[in-house]
Amino acid sequence: MPDSNINNYCLICGKGYHVCHSCWEIRTFTPWRTIADTPNCYSIYLILSDYNGGSISKEHAREALLQCDLTAKETFKERPRNTINEIIGETAKAVRRKTKKPVVETMDTAMTDTDTTNDDGMENCE
Ligand SMILES: [Zn+2]
Repeated sequence: MPDSNINNYCLICGKGYHVCHSCWEIRTFTPWRTIADTPNCYSIYLILSDYNGGSISKEHAREALLQCDLTAKETFKERPRNTINEIIGETAKAVRRKTKKPVVETMDTAMTDTDTTNDDGMENCE
């Protein structure tokens, strides 16, 4: 595959891809293909630009971002990645607080002392 097939780079993940000639031609409504390589990256791009432009709140941006596929976030370009981390960073902490062990379990562990050592290994997760 010749490199000349790549004529654009995704503004979010930085991947090179090919934009066909007709995509460049249709400038009236800016096809997403001229900005991002996948619809998912384009959604993220729209959210980040709305957030950076101040047209949506951080909370709104966070909810919208959580609808997107962020599994490849660590490979994104630095700027969008930092902005995403800034927006959803607070959620990660909030969620962790909610996933506390139910109090009921402590009753079981008190009865079987010898077996609890394995469960206590979860302390490391903090
Ligand atoms: Zn992309």
